[in-house]
Amino acid sequence: MTSPDRLAPHRDRGSSEAGKRSPDALHFDSVTKSYDTQAGVVEVLRGVSLALVAGEALAITGPSGSGKSTLLHLAATLETPTSGSIRIGGEVAHELAERELAAFRSRRIGLVFQDHYLLPQYTMLQNVLLPAVAAGGRGEGGEGVEERARRLLRAVGLGARVDHRPAQLSGGERQRAAIVRALINRPSLLLCDEPTGNLDAETAASVADLLLDLHAEGDSALIVVTHSLELADRLPRRVELRAGLLTEAPPRPAAGG
Ligand code: ADP
Ligand code: MG
Repeated sequence: MTSPDRLAPHRDRGSSEAGKRSPDALHFDSVTKSYDTQAGVVEVLRGVSLALVAGEALAITGPSGSGKSTLLHLAATLETPTSGSIRIGGEVAHELAERELAAFRSRRIGLVFQDHYLLPQYTMLQNVLLPAVAAGGRGEGGEGVEERARRLLRAVGLGARVDHRPAQLSGGERQRAAIVRALINRPSLLLCDEPTGNLDAETAASVADLLLDLHAEGDSALIVVTHSLELADRLPRRVELRAGLLTEAPPRPAAGG
């Protein structure tokens, strides 16, 4: 059985070229996180080590309250570890000054939550462009960022909805737009916290299809926190968080086989 305190990336599943040593997309080394509360210290993560290479996809499961969201917030640089270190593409984000950290986060990290958090006053196109504006508004390579936004919105079936506002769309459509927004800056890390948690089973399955398809097109490392074993089973790797510690879950036999 894999030692719970040292979970190495699955190198064969990454898209980085063989032989080329690039830093891990995400690297947790003995990370702990505690909160001081009036009722005492709450130890949420008790020594988590985890590494993911570019292109890798990982599901995190575990009971409610086990620290899944805390782990994701740490990876997103929204929280700082109590001890241990976190590197994203080789950089220690929590050592950056606040201004640099905000820029780092908007360029490098895409976030999808259970709620879409689209802004109601903006159109779908404007919403998905917001992280690009925050990061300086420039697209990369030949394709302009607005062109990319329109292409991705078409790819998720929202081509006819670019000028609509969130209230005019269904829950599944809003969540698809939230995924496009998370990917607009080609983040090196795409972090999703219960991304299908508010959707009915059929919509959840189609949103998961889109998430995995879009992830496969780029080289972001993907983490999906989910209660759904159905969704977790679609990812090549799964870890389970229990009582603040991670264990690598063995691959499950294919359904129906
Ligand atoms: P999960 O996402 O697995 O349900 P969370 O990461 O949200 O779990 O929470 C894990 C534990 O950490 C819970 O017991 C929660 O109450 C506690 N916790 C999270 N944030 C704070 C905080 N800011 N202060 C105190 N306790 C917290
Ligand atoms: Mg949570």
